[in-house]
Amino acid sequence: ATLKKYLSNQTTVKTLSPKRQLVEISLHRVVKNQSFTEEFEIYYQPIVNISSGEIIAAESLLRWQSPELGLVYPAEFIPLAESTGLIVPIDQWVVQSVCKQIRIWQNAGVSSLTLAVNLSVIEFNEPDCIQKIVGFLKNNNLEPQYLEVELTESMIMQDVNSAIATMNKLQSLGVRIAIDDFGTGYSSLIYLKNLPVNTLKIDRYFIHNVAQDPQKSAITKALIEMAHNLNMQVVAEGVETEAELSFLRQKNCDAMQGFLFSRPLPAAEFENFLWNNKRLPA
Ligand code: C2E
Ligand code: MG
Ligand code: MG
Ligand code: MG
Repeated sequence: ATLKKYLSNQTTVKTLSPKRQLVEISLHRVVKNQSFTEEFEIYYQPIVNISSGEIIAAESLLRWQSPELGLVYPAEFIPLAESTGLIVPIDQWVVQSVCKQIRIWQNAGVSSLTLAVNLSVIEFNEPDCIQKIVGFLKNNNLEPQYLEVELTESMIMQDVNSAIATMNKLQSLGVRIAIDDFGTGYSSLIYLKNLPVNTLKIDRYFIHNVAQDPQKSAITKALIEMAHNLNMQVVAEGVETEAELSFLRQKNCDAMQGFLFSRPLPAAEFENFLWNNKRLPA
């Protein structure tokens, strides 16, 4: 029915490129047929503590293997999923799958690994969002601190008061909260002080070439200090070089993720990293 409604909506069709139309039609089909497990796969990118070198967390990143389109990256379908509302069932499937995965890894003997999930503000503003998360935690008998919800700075700022209310509820349940892509979303520092946030993730724009770029160095150093003063942990995103890492280590950044340590990996490959005790060299 949704597909029919979409196809009859000529104005939408006309303004979309053929590729976008195909993405949208295929995405509708995945949701309508509930074929998430057949077409979606969650990849895990390790997040490493810079001083101990240990993997402390992983970020869940969605990949779509579509029969019509091949491998589709989030940049190509998340914005579309958001504008059509399809992101709601998709994000719910991701949270549920990630909760199951934490349970599987804990049963296999992995302790103190936090899994982070990206939530769209559209899902986050759904009235039953928290109830759904609580249900997934309960069904898998999980302590809430092993789940971290990542919200982008720009999405929080769209409706900051409602976001703060939901963030407060979630954090009081024990679920961790991260601000994603920090530095790109024009948030006022007055708000930052009031946000219930455990982790601040510095956007990779600032990390790229940070050691050589005096402006990026100054901003990154200030962000780390500010986050620490607000009792937040700092994760640097997109770390690709030794020079970037040593800058971050020198400025006491808590953790990093990026291609230097590992790309996002399928669950089985991420597990090998854990079993082989792969860590960041000191
Ligand atoms: P994000 O949450 O900021 O995730 C980090 C992105 O940076 C990922 O892109 C990751 O693969 C990429 N990345 C990690 N390390 C490096 C590096 O060293 N260099 C470079 N150049 N890139 C690096 P990805 O997987 O394509 O995801 C893009 C965005 O899509 C994510 O940005 C997130 O906002 C969104 N997203 C991904 N999965 C989900 C999901 O399940 N739900 C929702 N709502 N959004 C998702
Ligand atoms: Mg993220
Ligand atoms: Mg990010
Ligand atoms: Mg991003």
